[in-house]
Amino acid sequence: MAVGLASMRFDVVTLFPEMFTPLTDNGVNARARHQGIWDLHFWNPRTYTHDVHRTVDDRPYGGGPGMVMLAEPLEAAVDEALAARQQQGMTDSPVILMSPTGERFDQALAQQWASTDGAVIVCGRYEGIDQRFIDARVTHEISIGDFVLSGGEIAALAVMDAVIRLLPGVLNDQQSAVCDSFHVGLDGLLDSPHYTRPEIYKGQSIPAVLKSGNHQLIAQWRREQSLRITAQRRPDLIEQARAKGLLDKKDEQYLLSL
Ligand code: SAH
Repeated sequence: MAVGLASMRFDVVTLFPEMFTPLTDNGVNARARHQGIWDLHFWNPRTYTHDVHRTVDDRPYGGGPGMVMLAEPLEAAVDEALAARQQQGMTDSPVILMSPTGERFDQALAQQWASTDGAVIVCGRYEGIDQRFIDARVTHEISIGDFVLSGGEIAALAVMDAVIRLLPGVLNDQQSAVCDSFHVGLDGLLDSPHYTRPEIYKGQSIPAVLKSGNHQLIAQWRREQSLRITAQRRPDLIEQARAKGLLDKKDEQYLLSL
């Protein structure tokens, strides 16, 4: 581990810290953590229980299926996390609850968060969380899509991965984040197809233009592929780009030709 304090830090409140090895042990994110670009700390609500069974949940008032997470252990975990962040000079840290009822996470949010010093992220489990904890401590509720996971850990992993890979020095080629699908600041269109060796794979050759050496033609081909794929799969993103004035005459002509 690098000496010194990372400028981005996530404090994850979770019953299952062992679920986070994809971020800490694999790939560019793990390397960046060892380089000290970002850091991760866990706060387990079970630590903040006082009974022999280390109870973190109970039956819902009003009846119904499933269990509800107790407010007190969560609040104690969040408060310790906030205190630790404050000691590191991070004031006003957001407390984010992963929740299917939250605001939808997207690349624009990832880009916004990449310029902050991180957050406390709370992972829910069971049927839900006592609302009084949410009212008292949570500043943002974030969903990763219109589906329900069994816990917030995988959602938190997805969000942190999307943010961390945008930090300077994490990707091998910083340009690659800018070329990704949805990137806000360029056009927000979907990415174009990629090809690598061999030139002919099971009888299929690569688009000839990619071997032309003509950078202008290659850029135009990629632009057209982006437009074509986005028009087919996500016409809403074409509308957004158009509304922001990000499509030029050439783009519109190509879209008409489809
Ligand atoms: N009863 C809840 C779902 C609970 S799922 C409901 O219908 O809204 C258990 C936990 O998984 C949640 O507390 C949340 O932390 C996490 N979770 C599930 N789906 C998620 C999603 N789409 N985005 C973010 N977190 C999610």
